[in-house]
Amino acid sequence: MWVADEQQRAMLDTVRRLCDRDIRPYVQEMDEKAEFRREIFNRFGELGLTGILIPEEYGGLELGYSTSTLVLAEIASVSAAYAVSIMVHWLCAAAITTFGTEDQKQEYLPRLASGELMGAWSLTEPNAGSDAASLRTAAAHQDDGYILNGTKSFISNGGAADVYVAFTRTSADRYSGITAFIIEKGWPGVSFGKKENKMGIRACDTRSMIFEDCYVPTSKRLHEEGQGFRVAMTMMDAGRINNAALTLGIAQGAMREAVKYAQEREQFGKKIGDFQGVQFMLADIKVGVETTAAIVARAAYKKDHGLPVTADASVAKMYSADVAMRAAENAVQIHGGYGYMKEYPVEQFFRDAKIFQITEGTNQIQRVIIAKRMLQGEV
Ligand SMILES: Cc1cc2nc3c(=O)[nH]c(=O)nc-3n(C[C@H](O)[C@H](O)[C@H](O)COP(=O)(O)OP(=O)(O)OC[C@H]3O[C@@H](n4cnc5c(N)ncnc54)[C@H](O)[C@@H]3O)c2cc1C
Repeated sequence: MWVADEQQRAMLDTVRRLCDRDIRPYVQEMDEKAEFRREIFNRFGELGLTGILIPEEYGGLELGYSTSTLVLAEIASVSAAYAVSIMVHWLCAAAITTFGTEDQKQEYLPRLASGELMGAWSLTEPNAGSDAASLRTAAAHQDDGYILNGTKSFISNGGAADVYVAFTRTSADRYSGITAFIIEKGWPGVSFGKKENKMGIRACDTRSMIFEDCYVPTSKRLHEEGQGFRVAMTMMDAGRINNAALTLGIAQGAMREAVKYAQEREQFGKKIGDFQGVQFMLADIKVGVETTAAIVARAAYKKDHGLPVTADASVAKMYSADVAMRAAENAVQIHGGYGYMKEYPVEQFFRDAKIFQITEGTNQIQRVIIAKRMLQGEV
């Protein structure tokens, strides 16, 4: 864990207590049943965590990324699924904070801050993943609004969330033909696909989102028409810092379990932690955790101070996802055969870690972003 100030430490103690009481005892059951419990999200709301990035004037805590990253890592060290749930909620709220009109902020932010409303982010489509600019969901002008038709895929919190920032095509122009909207669950023409049966983060619902002749008034357009790609890229810079913190949390959780097991398990008449082969795996996990913590803290600091952060966010996101994957793998290895069993949390960390090398820009795409920034002379 990187250095937290007094206020952050107090908040982390509260988050830890919530996780220990409301999540940890049920984490395996919720994973097996692929069950998202809204009451846990509501508990986040009661503590103000849902509004951590929302300005105080709209009911949030306005604590910035230096704090959101700490909180997210703490939650993810117990449940990556619930960490994803609040992370995409933050992404939705941050997009409205950054690009919304005053009316939109007044209407949505206080209720997103309290957790009364849960947010989500609808960018990906069946044929537009890494190449997000090729999205096809159509928004055609009609009266004082738009008619939406198309399908979004793999939406975290899909169906569970109340408010979605969704990206559509308003003209053929690849980048300036993309427009974002605020969409509410329950509007005519909005529906959701079946819950995806996933390898990991199973307690976070993932569904497709379907628009069929869905009328959306212009007042729900987020920012100017044609500015959607800029909205998406700006917000994903910030989102990737939180994403990196989330995977740091997985690595921390794996480390905690690996150390505990190495201190308990005996073979050849010794604790397995006495074997150098096991010590090396523990040390590798620790080095990954500490280096990631430093990278995430730096990216969060830069974001909070308004400095350019695109490359830092991609470095953090990519590196942290790989560290989490390796940490979970080493933690399973240290547990031997028991690590392969669902009774031990490391099995779930291992399955959960994988998605973060894929979502919010795959690790290959992060490398593309990093190299592009380097060649542009920015880093
Ligand atoms: C569990 C889960 C939750 C998700 N949550 C959300 C969400 O809340 N909101 C949302 O909008 N989306 C979400 N996604 C979608 C996710 O962001 C995409 O899956 C991801 O961006 C990759 O897109 P794709 O799956 O279409 O893969 P593709 O883009 O088809 O990529 C396939 C492979 O090709 C590689 N590749 C593609 N282009 C390049 C290139 N230029 N250079 C090198 N390699 C390349 C990729 O790295 C990958 O290895 C989620 C996905 C999952 C599985």
